[in-house]
Amino acid sequence: MAQEYIAKPLKESCLRMEGLSQQLIDEHYNILYKGYVNKLNEIRGKLEAADPSKGNQTYSDIRELKVEESFALNAIKLHELYFENLGGAGGQATGQALQLIEQSFGSYASWEADLKGSAMAARGWVVVAYDRDDGKLHNYIADSHNSYGVWNAVPVLILDTYEHAYGLDYGVKRAPYIEAFMKNLDWEVVNKRIAELPR
Ligand code: FE
Repeated sequence: MAQEYIAKPLKESCLRMEGLSQQLIDEHYNILYKGYVNKLNEIRGKLEAADPSKGNQTYSDIRELKVEESFALNAIKLHELYFENLGGAGGQATGQALQLIEQSFGSYASWEADLKGSAMAARGWVVVAYDRDDGKLHNYIADSHNSYGVWNAVPVLILDTYEHAYGLDYGVKRAPYIEAFMKNLDWEVVNKRIAELPR
């Protein structure tokens, strides 16, 4: 039996954010995120019953289930990282995060401008990742949970740009949501991730 994936609890400070309402976060976490967890468990149950000898790259049960497993699992991982790096004090990065941002982008302002531009350009996610090949941070974008992952790069900061992450509070206006995200960014969490990087 595949081990059941258990949803991680929501960080308490995420329900008390300025500019991102409790209802928005509650729906995002309880309906969207937990929905992915339920689907992952359903997919893994079905994978156990799928016949691996029937694998086919055009269509086969195992192919469809593996594709959707990567979609659901990446959705779970990205949302966990996203909620974890919210609920903070915002403002400019501190400590190792600031150092690495400056090393990688020249200045905090250049990084922030690139992050905001990336967030307006992404259809699903911005992933700030440490790339072990050049030793720098990059603002990567993804249009779907399971697209554009960059190998050998470790995510350190996640920004959800799907409309469900802001529609309730801001309608179709994404820019004020990005401002609210920045105001509630938890740099302590980002710093902890950077300190633990396998560099
Ligand atoms: Fe989301």
